[in-house]
Amino acid sequence: MKEHELKRQKELVELAGRVLIKNYRQPPIVMAAGRGAELWDVAGNRYLDMTSGIAVCSLGHSHPRLAARVARQAATLQHTSNLYFVEEQVLLAKDITDRCFADRVFFCNSGAEANEGAMKLARRYQRVVNGQDRDLIVSTINSFHGRSMATVSITGQEKYRTDFGRLLEPVKYVPFDDLDAAAQALEGREACAFIVEPIQAEGGIVVPSEKYLLGLRELTKATGTLLIYDEVQTGMGRTGKWFGHHHDDVAPDVMTMAKALGGGVPIGAVAASEQAAEGLAWKEGGAVPHATTFGGNPLACAAAREVFATIEEEDILANVVAVGDYLAERLGELAARYPGVCEGVRGRGLLRGLNTHAKAAAAGPIYAGARERGLLLSLAGGTVVRFAPPLIVTRAHVDEAIGILDDTLSAVAGSTGA
Ligand code: PLP
Repeated sequence: MKEHELKRQKELVELAGRVLIKNYRQPPIVMAAGRGAELWDVAGNRYLDMTSGIAVCSLGHSHPRLAARVARQAATLQHTSNLYFVEEQVLLAKDITDRCFADRVFFCNSGAEANEGAMKLARRYQRVVNGQDRDLIVSTINSFHGRSMATVSITGQEKYRTDFGRLLEPVKYVPFDDLDAAAQALEGREACAFIVEPIQAEGGIVVPSEKYLLGLRELTKATGTLLIYDEVQTGMGRTGKWFGHHHDDVAPDVMTMAKALGGGVPIGAVAASEQAAEGLAWKEGGAVPHATTFGGNPLACAAAREVFATIEEEDILANVVAVGDYLAERLGELAARYPGVCEGVRGRGLLRGLNTHAKAAAAGPIYAGARERGLLLSLAGGTVVRFAPPLIVTRAHVDEAIGILDDTLSAVAGSTGA
């Protein structure tokens, strides 16, 4: 039996090598099933999942409530386009606006699309509402905002922009958590928007200092610049509050979301204040300024509504805080035990990073070694091993992960002599 399953996985990987564009760098694993914080591959191997599909499957894999809601919606109404109102979309917009600063929402299908929408909103807002042609977008060094042409243009990591020719302009990158640099970039009043993640996630789980968002809010307000928070990774309870910026209590003009919004069903959103939303508002007699075929369809919106309801009814935010603190504590102990490899622990809630010394070059081997031992992690910012587990993980899951990571660190420290 096992032999048959191993053969099947091998065949699929070989077929993938022939028919898929080779853009990803994947290990020879094909996932077959998931339940809670566990995954099984086609060969029958079990993994403890501390990545949740890169911060997506917040309720865990195959949560019975989400699975049932999606099945029910699929059997009722899947898609109509935005030629008509969509009941689940309207109610989901209410779910979002009830829980944050925003008054209005536009739905799309991914994080990159949400940021594209926010950029269009900002450019047009300046023209239509402010009567100014302000095109500049200010972004931060080491940020990540997506892989479309426009969103790689505002992503502050050169490696993602290389070899694609001319990108969207003008864009200025300033150091993250540096208010003087932000002030300088905004003082000419040329920027339509400043886009920032409340915690830089892909860039290495970097939490800014306490007054950073407040300082940005003051600077953007004073210069007529829209403040956009990219909450694609930090939103939907990942940090222990509904949105990452709720720890700072500083509202932006626009917020983008995706990833965990649908709990695994693709959906993205641009949420905006009443005033900022004018940037995408249709004007009588004009063309529709922004639109999408799939965005906000009944299936995806029903899934997202179930995610909101489940997080609330199962008190999942409290779990994020409690288990997140426990994870940080256990990671801290490990970091102290392996000082030659580990530099410290970062993050908030269930978005945590174990930072490794760049010179030890250990993050890659830890990531691969943990996987070989049945623990799924991901990397952020080159040196950081990222934990972004389902928000329903327990202390027992954390204990299991720490045990595997301990074995892995011991092997990596031994082989690097660190
Ligand atoms: N913004 C942030 C902060 C992200 O972390 C990501 C993805 O990792 C994106 C945008 C892009 O989202 P997507 O991959 O859904 O396009």
